[in-house]
Formats: sequence, C-alpha cells, structure tokens
Amino acid sequence: MSVTTVRASSWGSLFDCAYKWEWIHILGHRSPSSGRAHLGTAIHAGTAAFDVSRMNGSNLTAYDTAEMLLHTLRNPEHDVDWRADKLTLNEAERIALPLHTRYCNEISPRYEFVAVERTAKPLDIDCGGGIVIRLTGQLDRARICKAGDGKGIADVKSGGAAVVDGIAKTKGHSPQIGTYEILEEHTTGEPCTAPAHIIGLKTRGKPETGIGEIRGAKAMMVGTEEFPGLIQIGAEMFRTGLFPPNPQSFLCSAKYCPRWSVCPYHE
Ligand code: SF4
Repeated sequence: MSVTTVRASSWGSLFDCAYKWEWIHILGHRSPSSGRAHLGTAIHAGTAAFDVSRMNGSNLTAYDTAEMLLHTLRNPEHDVDWRADKLTLNEAERIALPLHTRYCNEISPRYEFVAVERTAKPLDIDCGGGIVIRLTGQLDRARICKAGDGKGIADVKSGGAAVVDGIAKTKGHSPQIGTYEILEEHTTGEPCTAPAHIIGLKTRGKPETGIGEIRGAKAMMVGTEEFPGLIQIGAEMFRTGLFPPNPQSFLCSAKYCPRWSVCPYHE
C-alpha cells in the first residue's frame, strides 16, 4: 500500500499545477512564508481567538483579541520573507487591525459556531491499485456553524482580491471546502447539510469584507454517477507518479513557484 497524505488546504493547488505541488508536498521543498501570507496567518489567529471566546462564553472584545493578532504578526513561528512583496510589519498591522475589527463587529455575530478550527480525524480512502489517500488536518481557518437544523462550513479567507463587489471570491476554494465537509462528517458522524460560506477579508486597498456561498463541494471531491471526483483523479497521479505541469497557471512565475528555476516546462 502506498499512502499519500494530503492536507485539505493543498487540494486546490494540486489541480493548479501538479508539477509544482509534487515539488512542495512530495519532495519537501518549501519556501519561506511571504509577508502577505504571514499577514493572513495573523488575521486568522485574531479572528479565531474572538470566535472561540464567543463560543466558550468569555466574550472577549475585538480590542482584546487584536492582541493575539499583533502577537502572531510580531512573533512568526517560521521564517517570513517580508521583501517578497514589499510589505513592512507596520503596514501589515495597519491593514490587519481594521479588518479584524470589522470581522468581530459585523461578520462573526451573524454566525452561531459549533467549532472553530476543529482537529479532524484522518480519513484513509482506498483508491484501488494499492493507492491510499489520507485526508488530514485541522480544519484550518474554518468554522462549523449551526444552520437551521443542520450545520455548514464557514471558511475565512484573506487576500488582496478576497472580496470583489462586496462578495467573497469563491473560485478555486471548492476542493478545500469539500475536503472539510468530508472530514467533518468523518469526525462527528454528522454531515454538513448547509451550503458552505467563504468569509472574505480584503487586504489590499480599502478594507472590505464579504461573504460568498459554495454548494456541491463534497460532490466535486467524491464524484457522482456522471463524473469522477477529484480524489479519484488525484489518485491516478499518485499511482503513476506523473504530475502534469501547467505553464499557463496564473501562479506560474518565479515569485509564486518554488520549482521555477528547475522546471523545464515554462517559457
Ligand atoms: S514553473 Fe510553472 S509549470 Fe513549472 S512547476 Fe512552476 S507553475 Fe508549474
């Protein structure tokens, strides 16, 4: 049996450029986090602290939990390359704090949370031919929310273009959300019955927040009678060891791809 562990958050990039994905996740070449990626990590730490305090009744304020945001921003756990996107720590703080406040005051109160960043039980999927895909991970940055009699995923996404015309960008997030839905059901025995929400926090220009909806994400991962799921398609790559390059990817550049200098497929 060959077991390949795939984190929920990496499924989207497997189908963007699998050749890059192999370099990072199978061959273990990681680059330092960029300033903007670290900004996202800090925003998520602050908003998660706020939501956890709502759930456990300690009811910390946006001001209290901004401490967690600033602490994370100023004390990274991994190397951060601030020069990669010409961001300074001061600018990062200036961007993050208003978004944190808007999230706490305007977005979070709309939800009743069941869990914040739940640690899921790993799930092994036997894909045949000796290939097992192990889905793992904390439901990073995701919340489980009550929705009527059921529940659904709400996933916080920050980024320069995370909100367009007042709505969170959902494109490209379905594989991750679908994996979260599979893991949540596997961990608790209860399916996610409500559509998933992406909560967008825009980190470029004027601070903006927005919500977008995703339906059918789990079906995209496991497939239906009409089409195979992405897990099955991914299993073929793991079985053959062939990870197709995608030189037309929007992220095919020296800045965004750590395989760029040794990849023969781009121009
Ligand atoms: S350089 Fe382009 S084609 Fe090559 S691995 Fe990176 S993203 Fe893929």
